[in-house]
Amino acid sequence: MSAPHVRHILFLDRDGTIVREPEDFRIDSLDKVEFLPQVAESLAELYRLGYRFVLVSNQDGLGTPEFPYFRFDRPHRFILTYLEWRGVPFEAVLIDYHKPEDQHPDRKPNPGLVRRWLAGRELDPSTCWVIGDRRTDAWLAYNLGIGSLTIRDPHSADGDRRSPEVPPAATVPFTDWPAIVEYLRPYAPHQSA
Ligand SMILES: [Mg+2]
Repeated sequence: MSAPHVRHILFLDRDGTIVREPEDFRIDSLDKVEFLPQVAESLAELYRLGYRFVLVSNQDGLGTPEFPYFRFDRPHRFILTYLEWRGVPFEAVLIDYHKPEDQHPDRKPNPGLVRRWLAGRELDPSTCWVIGDRRTDAWLAYNLGIGSLTIRDPHSADGDRRSPEVPPAATVPFTDWPAIVEYLRPYAPHQSA
């Protein structure tokens, strides 16, 4: 018998998806943390419906002099602590620190970090999604063999501006979190929360 599939996991991008993407694409202080509208209540609703969350974030150059850990740490911990307080815990937080030019197998759109977390388990493609704001998030979903949902927040910097060489991948577009909740509700383990 094959191993049971991992079900009802949402792989969430952070910047541009949970919090707004700043113009310089780097959240390195608390005053750059701004949550997307209704993201906390929407994720809490998805949690009550039975979804579980894994954060997958590229933090280019983290740990180098231009982006030392202590500048990343404070806003990052604030984001996670706030969400947990709102009823949104994460099963895992997967952060990659490579730069695009490294083309590292752990850096989105490559699935290395997620595959390591899965440790040989398979994802159920009918109940797992990647939710992000960039083409690289959509390609991560493709590389994992699951669906892609894209949120476009009008007040976030357009992350795709950074890597225009990445072609589009199939994704379902949204402009707000409550619409994502309604999209995912029919596939949830519990139909009401
Ligand atoms: Mg993003």
